[in-house]
Parts: sequence; C-alpha cells; structure tokens
Amino acid sequence: MTLEIFRNFSDSQQSQRLPDSQPLLQIQHLRKYFPLPQGIGRALLRKPRRIVHAVDDVSFNIQKGEILALVGESGSGKTTIGMNVLGLQIPTSGKIIFDGCNIAEWAQGRMPCGKGTQIPEKLSSRQQILSLRRRAQMIFQDPYESLNPRQTVFQIVAEPLEIHGLTSSWEEKEDRVRKALEDSGLTPADHFWERYPDGLSGGQRQRVVIAGALVLEPELIVADEPVSMLDVSIRAEFLTLLLNLRHTRGITILYTTHDLATAGFFTDRMAVMYLGRIVEIGPTQEILANPRHPYTRALVSVVPAPNPRRRRERVILEGEVPNPIDLPSGCRFHPRCPFAFADCKVIDPPYAGSGDHLAACLLVKE
Ligand code: SF4
Repeated sequence: MTLEIFRNFSDSQQSQRLPDSQPLLQIQHLRKYFPLPQGIGRALLRKPRRIVHAVDDVSFNIQKGEILALVGESGSGKTTIGMNVLGLQIPTSGKIIFDGCNIAEWAQGRMPCGKGTQIPEKLSSRQQILSLRRRAQMIFQDPYESLNPRQTVFQIVAEPLEIHGLTSSWEEKEDRVRKALEDSGLTPADHFWERYPDGLSGGQRQRVVIAGALVLEPELIVADEPVSMLDVSIRAEFLTLLLNLRHTRGITILYTTHDLATAGFFTDRMAVMYLGRIVEIGPTQEILANPRHPYTRALVSVVPAPNPRRRRERVILEGEVPNPIDLPSGCRFHPRCPFAFADCKVIDPPYAGSGDHLAACLLVKE
C-alpha cells in the first residue's frame, strides 16, 4: 500500500466525515508504569525498584465519529493506551474520560456509566463493568486467537448479547446477529452462521470478530493492529469496512498500528508515539505531507512511494530504541536523532507548532 493510494482514497472520503461535536474520549496526562519484580540482590542492596514507563504523560481527545491512529513501533505504548481506555488496565496516574465518565472508576465498578441520562441508579459492580464493555469494544490483532474454534459463527456473535442480557426472544437475537454479520460484510449472514472459524479465511474471521463487537452497538472501537495478520491484498477492503462503519453507525475508532501506510489510508488524525510519549499529533494528511518531528520524518520516508522514479530520501535511524526502564534525559529521542544538539540532552521539548498540528521537538517553532 503506497502513500499515493491512501492519499487519493482519503481525499475521496473527506465528504464522509462526520461534523465535529464534542470529545467522546479525553485522555489527560495518562501514565502507566509497570514496576518490575525486585530481585533479592537489588533488595539486599536497597536499590530502587525498576519501573517500565510504558505510557508517560500522554494527552489527546477523540471527537465523536472520529478515527484517530496511534502510530508507533513495538513498545511505544500504543497498545497499553488501548488497554487503559477499555478499563483492562488501571492507569498509574492521569484520567481517561469516556463520555463524561472516568474509565478507571468505571472499570473498577465504583461508578455506573450509562448513556446520557439513562444511568441506572443501582448496579452491581459486575453490571457496572459490563456497561463499559457494551459501549467500548476492542478488536484484537489476531483473529485466529480471538475466536473459539468450538463455537459456530452464530454462537460467537450471539454470545455478547447473552452475557449482557440484551435480547428477550430468539427472533430478536437472530435479527441482531444477522445485522451485525451483514454490516461486517458477511452476506448473506445465514450462509455463515453455522460455520466454524476453521472453515473461514483470515479476512472472514476478522469480520466475525467485528460482528461480535458490533452486535452490542458500541460507540467506541479500539482496533489494535487489526490488519497486521491479514493478507496485504485484503487490508484495504477491511479498512474500508471500518471507515464505512464510522459513517453508517457513527462509531468512533482508536486505531493502533506500526504501519503508517494503513493509518494514512483511512484515519482523520494521527498521533505518533515514541517511548511512551506522543511526539507529533495532527491531521493525518498534513503529517504525511509535512512531518515536523525527526522521528515522524524517518517513518514517512520509508513508506513505499508509488512512482519509483520519484523516490523520497530515506532516513534510516541509527541505534536501537532505548530501554523504557532507563529513559534518556531531555528529549528521549536524542540518542537516535540526526539533528540532536546540546540542549536536546537536557530539555524535555514542549509541544510546538501551528493549529492542531503539534510536535515535541526543540527545532519546531510556532
Ligand atoms: Fe531531535 Fe532535539 Fe528535536 Fe529531540 S528535540 S527530536 S533530539 S532535534
């Protein structure tokens, strides 16, 4: 998939954008640290406990109906953010506000969070957690691992309805499963629902995963590298399906990926992550056309160009990503940055830029 293809496609999709309204999701100074087990040697020497800084002071909003890509290498913290957004992990500090509700309190069963004014007065903690699961769903990377091979497609998609007690009759259940399958591109639905995952292609399995999420009519989907296990030939088809779901159902999507090309294919905005921080954020096409942070420039430079005669200059970064236990001082990208200068080792760069396109680099001015 080349930059040109996704630019053309994205331009053609601008008219599908939903109007900006209010943020559905607000991430405020999110930190997620993982303390490592203290070995006997370190404990005896009274050395401080070592901590993995997986996510370190990350803030961003997503509007209702928007698709935002979190882009970064493995270990940059993007998947950890997705897990915290869904309440599968509890932040070390900071807040995640989903439609006015604090996710951490919600996920721990300390407060209910219904839709709008429909907040039930008394819910058990399990019901409170289920209320979150119903409104925010995750699509995992591996459709082979996500599906129970002993269940039929119908059983897989109907199961969330049963867990949440959302249907009162068999007919209603059939109707909702049929609609979810057809909206996921598995038509006619009846042709698929007696089949088992083993008899489906990778793309069809991932569509079943989506149907299992859609059947609950969520407002937010966290899609964690959903196409990385799929054949290249069907990735565009699958991403178009996600784009159409935003259009037809108004679903907000947080898309995490290491692949800038797929992010450019269908997302509105992009946040580029490096070592637990967002280093650049802004409208996707603007970042691709004019990346401002040296790390983003390096990522954009290696996306295949459509015309081999108009090759862009490749920026190959030296060295490895530093250990998230011992973060570099100042700008955490300085050990690999081709433009680093003395201040970069001591100053943690604030965000700078214009409008909604910002980058954390001392070379970027207003
Ligand atoms: Fe490179 Fe310095 Fe900018 Fe960091 S602050 S990205 S080291 S130039």
